Amino acid sequence: MIELDSVSKNFGDTTVLAGVTGQVNRGEIFAVIGPSGAGKSTLLRLIDLLDTPTEGAIRINGLDIHADKGRRLSIRRMMGMVFQKPAVFNTTVTENVAVGLRFRGAGRSEIRKMVEDALDMVGLAGYGDRKARTLSGGEMQRVALARAMVIEPEVLLMDEPTANLDPVSVAMIEDLVVRINRDLGTTIVFSTHDMYQGQRLAHRIGVLMDGVFSQVGTPREVFTLPASREVARFVGIEN
Ligand code: ATP
Ligand code: MG
Repeated sequence: MIELDSVSKNFGDTTVLAGVTGQVNRGEIFAVIGPSGAGKSTLLRLIDLLDTPTEGAIRINGLDIHADKGRRLSIRRMMGMVFQKPAVFNTTVTENVAVGLRFRGAGRSEIRKMVEDALDMVGLAGYGDRKARTLSGGEMQRVALARAMVIEPEVLLMDEPTANLDPVSVAMIEDLVVRINRDLGTTIVFSTHDMYQGQRLAHRIGVLMDGVFSQVGTPREVFTLPASREVARFVGIEN
């Protein structure tokens, strides 16, 4: 469903991505793992149309998402994104979740119902009137997740969704990722520097190192048959 075709990204003289190739299947949970600075956020930003590749193409359902400016809006509407730092606006939880719906011109009562359902899904029923800034980090991240999910995206992108959270909130978000995928069939791509999170959640893992996927495989493959010494070292298997 998502096809990465020799995706490169330079910032000035620095090459961050040097030809990432791989595929995410429909309905799959795919983890991008790799050390800090490997380019995980950069890759997700390219998929989310927040930046453009220097070379190569990203195709979703066969469509080169960066090639056709006229389709940007419809492509963005297929995707929900959750960032590493919970990003909330200084207003109510309901307003925070409803943002994407207003752009779509949904009606008032329709919006209310969809927001309530989304908050219910992330375990925040009854939080609608709270000021988002008064929430805990874990609650804020669940608001961000509700905001991404309320638009019913085909693809959910999550950049280190649990990086700043306490263990209980991490478990909650992980549980939600699994449930969203299982119950709604949403294709999920998330990044993490925590290989065990990749192992826990993902159907397949792409190991991003030195600007490319050093290996793409099931957690079992990556952890028991690392494709290189570098991958082995990263997943903690010295050999
Ligand atoms: P982390 O695990 O720490 O989040 P990451 O794998 O997400 O790291 P990126 O944030 O994608 O890594 O950054 C990869 C490299 O690209 C880093 O060296 C970073 O400094 C650089 N970089 C990212 N964005 C820019 C930018 N807009 N301009 C210049 N350099 C950038
Ligand atoms: Mg990052």
